[in-house]
Amino acid sequence: MYTPDMLKRDCDALRAAGVRTTSIGRSVLGRDIPALFIGREGGASVIVTAAIHARESLTARLVMRQAEHLRRSKLFGGGIWFVPMVNPDGCLFAARGMGAFDGLPPTAFARERALMSALSIDTPPALFKSNIRGVDLNVNFAAGWGRGARNVRAAGAENYIGPHPFSEPETRALRAFTQAVAPLATLSYHAKGRELYWYFGQDPAAAARDRRIAHTLNKRLGYRLVDGDMASAGGYKDWCIAALKIPAFTVEIIDDARPHPLRDGDLKPDIARNLELPRILLREATRA
Ligand SMILES: [Zn+2]
Repeated sequence: MYTPDMLKRDCDALRAAGVRTTSIGRSVLGRDIPALFIGREGGASVIVTAAIHARESLTARLVMRQAEHLRRSKLFGGGIWFVPMVNPDGCLFAARGMGAFDGLPPTAFARERALMSALSIDTPPALFKSNIRGVDLNVNFAAGWGRGARNVRAAGAENYIGPHPFSEPETRALRAFTQAVAPLATLSYHAKGRELYWYFGQDPAAAARDRRIAHTLNKRLGYRLVDGDMASAGGYKDWCIAALKIPAFTVEIIDDARPHPLRDGDLKPDIARNLELPRILLREATRA
């Protein structure tokens, strides 16, 4: 488990070491969604995101390890933006259950409290993927929204697309940030399965380019390269490909044999092969 407080502590440490940190916006409960930048300002960049799914907070820990590792590296071209925890409310809910509301005014967020309390009767908080309103943020983007094979139309622990695309402050914040940065490419971390996804209906020329980059990334990862979209839709990667026309990748870390909820130790075997991935992506996207 990796909580928003732990992330804040680690961001503060990197800021003290000279890394630029900022916030891309706020969650439903008003928590900051932090971002960090390493490299040269004003050049081309890529965006790395993680923990858009509540139960996947270990991906945020991985991304912070990447930032720490790469901040002293020579980068090809410009720089790398990290958004380690797109869903801070969800990650805290997965860690603490209804304790995620501690410290907030007792009369505030009555609807969210009632909803999450009801939903957690069926699903333990540690298994949730959604945000604090029961929306799965990674099916809330305007890219084939509502056409995913596993989409559902009611709030829940996972797969709820929301009332409309970008209904959630977290997805709106990531959209605005991505549009402002105009990255060459994006990389989204999820868990689990050790897979790399790159396809979402792009035209043949873009598909050839993106598959080539995916192949290079996977030389480092040694995961399973997936050439289809697996009937998913509405994800951040999907939106980057369809709306921004840029290469975008989803990496599922951690051996599929490890059960949810994942334990801290489950991350360790995947750290080394991922540390350099953002640097490789920046290099490949710059050359593409
Ligand atoms: Zn995920």
